[in-house]
Amino acid sequence: MLRRRLVPLLAAALFALVGAPIATAPQAAAAVSPHAVTTVYYDASQAPDLADNITEAVQIWNDSVQNVRLVAGGPADVTISEGYGGGSYTIPEGLGAGEVYLDLQQAQEYNPTRIVAHELGHIYGLPDNYDGDCSILMSGHSAGTGCQTTHPSAGEAAQVDANFAGGFRAARLPAVYQGCFDRSPARQRA
Ligand SMILES: [Zn+2]
Repeated sequence: MLRRRLVPLLAAALFALVGAPIATAPQAAAAVSPHAVTTVYYDASQAPDLADNITEAVQIWNDSVQNVRLVAGGPADVTISEGYGGGSYTIPEGLGAGEVYLDLQQAQEYNPTRIVAHELGHIYGLPDNYDGDCSILMSGHSAGTGCQTTHPSAGEAAQVDANFAGGFRAARLPAVYQGCFDRSPARQRA
């Protein structure tokens, strides 16, 4: 997270260093964006079975929002792991950081890319919304195993862009998002 905060400072320092030459090279000045996109680095090395779904979900999010993007690499802000049982969940560590756990058992019942995209939605600060609406990502299990929606709705994408409109910032988030793809809340604690 430290590196992410340093980027604007480095950019400002670079600009100061090359400020004079830029005056004679307008094309270089155009590359300096007034609103830097927040880059969130992730490590999915502990989720090899769902690697393709993770790549797909990352691409979907990167195509859907403008103010934040996910990039594989480190030091990772987000670690993604997988295992059998327990239910998929996300433990946020502030906006744009945290741990994602993917339940391979649930990935056999639900669209696995939808599961990944949903958990990444939590990383971006979206809460669960179990209203059964398959047109959104955050409805999770409530939309049923047949729901194949893997893209955020326009509303969900707009909320994420709003969350990151000021770059990285502290946010009040729950300790954990869980029960995302459990068929019944009673299974959460099994
Ligand atoms: Zn969830």
